[in-house]
Amino acid sequence: NAPLSEVDPEIAEVLRLELGRQRDYLEMIASENFVPRAVLESAGSVLTNKYAEGYPGRRYYGGCEFVDIAEQLAIARAKELFGAEYANVQPHSGASANAAVLSAIATPGDTILGLELAHGGHLTHGMKLNFSGKLYNAVSYGVDPETFLVDMDVVRDKAREHRPAVIIAGWSAYPRQLDFAAFREIADEVGAKLWVDMAHFAGLVAAGLHPSPVPYADVVSSTVHKTIGGPRSGFILSRDTALAKALNSNVFPGQQGGPLMHVIAAKATAFKLAATDEFRERQVRTISGAKLLAEALTSEESRAAGVNVLTGGTDVHLVLADLRASELSGQEAEDRLHEVGITVNKNSVPFDPRPPMVTSGIRIGTPALATRGFGDAEFAEVADIIAKALRPDYDPFALRARVQKLTDAFPLYPGLEY
Ligand code: PLP
Repeated sequence: NAPLSEVDPEIAEVLRLELGRQRDYLEMIASENFVPRAVLESAGSVLTNKYAEGYPGRRYYGGCEFVDIAEQLAIARAKELFGAEYANVQPHSGASANAAVLSAIATPGDTILGLELAHGGHLTHGMKLNFSGKLYNAVSYGVDPETFLVDMDVVRDKAREHRPAVIIAGWSAYPRQLDFAAFREIADEVGAKLWVDMAHFAGLVAAGLHPSPVPYADVVSSTVHKTIGGPRSGFILSRDTALAKALNSNVFPGQQGGPLMHVIAAKATAFKLAATDEFRERQVRTISGAKLLAEALTSEESRAAGVNVLTGGTDVHLVLADLRASELSGQEAEDRLHEVGITVNKNSVPFDPRPPMVTSGIRIGTPALATRGFGDAEFAEVADIIAKALRPDYDPFALRARVQKLTDAFPLYPGLEY
């Protein structure tokens, strides 16, 4: 029963250092967030000890009477939150949710049509080294070379040309909303299933600030740890129960063994919190912060430094800074921001002239800072710091000091110690 610091001081030190990093830097990776203490509590609890293969009431192990309550709560809350008739809360991650979805609605060898990875799609939507690209005949649609928007005429043409079994709508790096009704129409025309992966924008959907894909898609998958701000994991929804059996059996036993009951309990809490006014208000600050960032990065001074924003702005929780005309590559911009205390990731822009490990873009997200408490005033300050950091005459010491003022004013996990 000795504590971690005694049993494994090296790992205890990693926890201590990582907490310090999260506190001292401005976290702006668009797919990250800070879970509430309540979620940390379940995720680090004795529920990790429990095997519970199967589903509530139909398990392959004894002693599941209490973890069943947690899973039933998570399912009921997910359904209620997103207006779905069916939910599976067992996927360990977004990628494993997606593997289960594809194996439920397609057969290996079938054609699947998703957004091109280099244009903002996800690995699990058909990248050639991923299961989705290996098992299925993956074809893709890209964004328009002028507007950088998904053009539904192109999606329709691609669907007519390839007659996919599955059309995938969803993204990891795209700053606008997709037209789910148009995707549905195209899927119906070519006889495809429509799968929406809302991993990134699920929190905005839960808050009613982004159209819901649930009424349009045959299946919706998501992560819980991005805009929702819950534990690292995935879930699957459907508006009708016709696919329930196939989806359930393709999660377990299809893709996974025992579910992570500590994570499922933490998901239940995350879904409960996502139904509150406080959560909605946080998502409002998230989007508003991203818009302020887009404004700063499209200002005259930013454009003079070769910095711009793809699509000219954002409707969601992230901005894609376009550095094609800048001396700084995406990698250099990521390093420059790290130097002043801001964490982002380099990101290829569509039709990127620089190689994938260098890139001409950065993806900057606001969910974690909104969770930390930032509102418009703080996001305007962050936006100015980022815009100045990307200019040739930047002053690293002055900018680092401005970052520290913000991190000091918004303590993260007060009282938590490792
Ligand atoms: N789907 C989309 C759209 C994503 O952006 C991601 C995460 O990057 C995933 C799925 C995969 O989630 P995970 O990293 O939990 O496997």
